[in-house]
Amino acid sequence: MTTGPALPALDFPAFAAGSVWLVGAGPGDPGLLSLLALHALQQADSVVYDALVDPRILALARPGAALDYAGKRGGKPSPQQPDITARLIRLARTGQRVLRLKGGDPFVFGRGGEEALALAAAGIPFRIVPGITAAIGGLAYAGIPTTHRDINAAVTFITGHASDGEVPDGLDWPALARGAPVLVLYMALKHLAAIAERLIAAGRRAEEPVAVVSKATTEAQRVLETTLARAAADVAAAGIEPPAIIAIGEAVRLRASLDWLGALAADGKPG
Ligand code: SAH
Repeated sequence: MTTGPALPALDFPAFAAGSVWLVGAGPGDPGLLSLLALHALQQADSVVYDALVDPRILALARPGAALDYAGKRGGKPSPQQPDITARLIRLARTGQRVLRLKGGDPFVFGRGGEEALALAAAGIPFRIVPGITAAIGGLAYAGIPTTHRDINAAVTFITGHASDGEVPDGLDWPALARGAPVLVLYMALKHLAAIAERLIAAGRRAEEPVAVVSKATTEAQRVLETTLARAAADVAAAGIEPPAIIAIGEAVRLRASLDWLGALAADGKPG
């Protein structure tokens, strides 16, 4: 028996007892959840979720499902990745339908790959349910096409935060700077000044347009338009908070015509 929003009569795969589904929750707006993700939420016995998952999405879980938070809580250090994977395996071995719910897409900068490898090694059956990743969803909600025929035939997604917390210097920044007209950075607020410096040193223009999309697709979405040289200072001055994705490239200029969300909000304002 399921409750919650009715799903269309599609032939959804069965969520087998003792299996784990790694599911992308999208960037925030519950409307961006896939039907398969909603199906999984309505079937799961346990939902192990990350900090970036919107509470309105968790509210779609089957009543009675155990909601298990796997992020940072009350200043305590976040559970280590091996603890999370061990928990997934333990829950599956007790015969539960385990939903591992992650922000955005589980295989994009979300350690979903590590979790899936651990499940595979443990012989636990699993399924991957993709989600809309923050770069795609966030740029769309900011009115910035991720690609546009006249601007970029390639786009690069980059993490601005290495696993040791530093600027990822294992990356070839000069190659990234040359490689695509549009770069989209995840987890890059903290190291934005250093990253912008590396990109400019590698030949990107200081005046290149930049958009910082904070809390994309949520009620609290904010978009800051700036330039590569000014980005870090403007982010600090505006008090932009994480999570944020940062788009660098001429595509950002299209927002002047395509900020559909801003236009809808202005239309809705009285007077
Ligand atoms: N798997 C996720 C990414 C996890 S890494 C995905 O596919 O989207 C976490 C980073 O994602 C954040 O630091 C931020 O850069 C980005 N992010 C996630 N949700 C976001 C949101 N609602 N708005 C802006 N950026 C977001």
